[in-house]
Amino acid sequence: MNIARDTLLFILEVCKSSAPLEFAGMLQADGDVITEVVIVPGTSSTGESAVMQLFMLPNIHTIGTVHSHPSGNLRPSNTDLELFMKKGSYHIIAGAPYDTSSWTCYNRKGNTVELEVVDYDFKDEIDLL
Ligand code: ZN
Repeated sequence: MNIARDTLLFILEVCKSSAPLEFAGMLQADGDVITEVVIVPGTSSTGESAVMQLFMLPNIHTIGTVHSHPSGNLRPSNTDLELFMKKGSYHIIAGAPYDTSSWTCYNRKGNTVELEVVDYDFKDEIDLL
């Protein structure tokens, strides 16, 4: 599985700007490339955890989740592992200081999964000249 570089940078940026609150969203892929982060309406966040109202999830196909750990500890909590089992196969945790090495992807069992960062051509991107 791969992740688009721009998508990863967006994730790190939004996690950083949410801190000290936790950020949470769902991941969408185009083929074998993770390209989109869907922010679930009604997501509430404290410094401890983010609660996604999954019934509010738009009717779209998602392949996993992303959330931040402002503590910088990238290990999934027991609550995270319960979510991983229910919601897709790829789960990214990004932690402080939110640089390109401070994130890890897990599978639904909580084992580490290698995601390759690739360049992806966002076809619907518009150049404003
Ligand atoms: Zn967590």
